[in-house]
Amino acid sequence: MTAPTPNDTSSDHKVSNFLRQIIQNDLDKGTYASRRWAGSPGDAAHHAAGEPDPAKIRTRFPPEPNGYLHVGHAKSICINFGLAKEYGGVCHLRFDDTNPEKEDTEYVNSIIDAVKWLGFDWAQLGQTAGSAAPYQASDYFDFMYRAAEALIEAGHAYVDEQSAEDMRANRGDFGKPGVDSPFRTRTVAENLARFREMRDGKLADGAAVLRAKIDMASPNINLRDPAIYRIRRATHHHTGDTWCIYPMYTFAHPIEDALEQITHSICTLEFEDQRPFYDWLMERLCECKLLAAPSPKQYEFARLNLTYVITSKRKLAQLVNEGKVSGWDDPRMPTIVGLRRRGYTPESLRLFADRIGVTKSDSWIDYSTLEGCLREDLENKAHRGMAVLDPVKLVLTNWAEAFGSDGYTEACTQPALPHSAIAEGQTPPADRTFLIGKEVWIEREDFEEVPPKGYKRLFPGNVVRLKGGYVIECTGCARDAAGNVTEVHAKVIPGTKSGTPGADSVKAKAAITWVAVADGVQAEVRLYDRLFAEAHPDAGGKDFLQSLNPDSLKVVTAYVEPSLAAAQPDQKFQFERFGYFVADRLDHVAGSKPVFNKVTGLKDKWAK
Ligand code: ATP
Ligand code: MG
Repeated sequence: MTAPTPNDTSSDHKVSNFLRQIIQNDLDKGTYASRRWAGSPGDAAHHAAGEPDPAKIRTRFPPEPNGYLHVGHAKSICINFGLAKEYGGVCHLRFDDTNPEKEDTEYVNSIIDAVKWLGFDWAQLGQTAGSAAPYQASDYFDFMYRAAEALIEAGHAYVDEQSAEDMRANRGDFGKPGVDSPFRTRTVAENLARFREMRDGKLADGAAVLRAKIDMASPNINLRDPAIYRIRRATHHHTGDTWCIYPMYTFAHPIEDALEQITHSICTLEFEDQRPFYDWLMERLCECKLLAAPSPKQYEFARLNLTYVITSKRKLAQLVNEGKVSGWDDPRMPTIVGLRRRGYTPESLRLFADRIGVTKSDSWIDYSTLEGCLREDLENKAHRGMAVLDPVKLVLTNWAEAFGSDGYTEACTQPALPHSAIAEGQTPPADRTFLIGKEVWIEREDFEEVPPKGYKRLFPGNVVRLKGGYVIECTGCARDAAGNVTEVHAKVIPGTKSGTPGADSVKAKAAITWVAVADGVQAEVRLYDRLFAEAHPDAGGKDFLQSLNPDSLKVVTAYVEPSLAAAQPDQKFQFERFGYFVADRLDHVAGSKPVFNKVTGLKDKWAK
């Protein structure tokens, strides 16, 4: 069989990594070429997935719908869906919904949204013929139950009724082997009867568990007769009250993989010690003829650790519940909904996942890597615009003298993208136009009555250009009783407008950004910065709330040029000199109520 070659055209060159090597090797050898469905016909999964195409790899992304996804999950999504796409395979979005108390359809929907937004359409990736419905572990509860009975019948599982305390004590620890449960030697008939009583609600929650019978002395604690079913009277968001026993994740997960004919089950390193159980279970269920070889194989990669960021679901929930942020989609949150509202693009996150790659050992990625990917993505895409974030009025005192009346305004034009951002053969976007008049807003920091050394912007006698407009000469300022500058004064130099023959007739020391009073629109600008002031907010058991950055949000009233005020929600821009901003997805109203979020500055100001 000839292996398909990577056919992902979205990025020119993929660097090899251990996962690509494994997949390529399996494709070359045809490891999965003989795959056929096992088990009895009628299992939901068999219909869901259709007959497997032996030439295809199958991966999966298996979130538990118990919270919002974060940037770490984005890495996992990009790896799993990305590899499937690259090798012409299939990736399943599967909800690992085996823990009914913590799960909710709100999370299910947000996860579906997040995966789609990142650019992965599992329906198009061939998962399900004619259906875009994601997979869910709860569809296999019947099969899992049968698998459990099959294990019991083969002598590989028993119902344990030790107290939780005894069970814990008898498990032993790293240096101490476990002790067999007194229930370990029950007969098959007794185990079956007891397990059915568990299922039928005859035993109280926690009164018994079904355990795999492996080896209480195993150096791998995960093999010391792990629990595979527990009693939990909880309403499941999908199966309702059908079940009062639920499979444990470690038991359910390999079965889900097998039923969906997953070839490469890719997860994070903390599951490495679970792999022997994964393989044990596959072998037993193949022996019982419930599954057929070749079984899926588990591979582990290092999870994403990002500086200045917390990826623990529990801690993220704490930030939301204690009101430290405005919600799961607060633009400072590392959740996918938060990153999206902040202005991160799917392209920038995919670039990030590509750039950090996959490895087998844990490490930290600097937050600036993520910001760098955003800048790289937006550099040639985000239209430029001028905004004044800390406005003070500049009055051109000779305006009427120069142009005939104080009310005279003139249109200025500037490119939406610089020349360097336009690829060869690409049509540049239409120019931006905005007015210049007698009064314009400038940044307060662009005027100094007594200039510090090296200061090139406005001070009395200095000549600067209003970017895209005229060259002006500063003459002074007006102050209020408290001494604050209320107005800056300057004279316009006619004939020096940008783009006209006289533009270079007078040399300006600097060009400053500005917005005309005549057409500038007031805007709310949310200046976001990192949520934590420390690179490792939860290192060494310290209270991560102590590391919150008190300056992570500053809201200012700014003036923006008309092209920015007209933005569509979620449209990204480069505010000249300041960095990248996005029109808030929820609060921005084009034309009437501009609201922008700062994504990131032009440079990394956190670099040491
Ligand atoms: P929980 O503690 O609730 O299990 P989780 O973050 O592991 O939280 P899951 O819903 O189980 O959440 O995760 C789905 C997938 O995302 C898993 O395969 C997991 O390995 C992967 N994943 C989770 N966190 C990261 C991370 N920081 N980097 C890379 N992958 C991650
Ligand atoms: Mg998990």
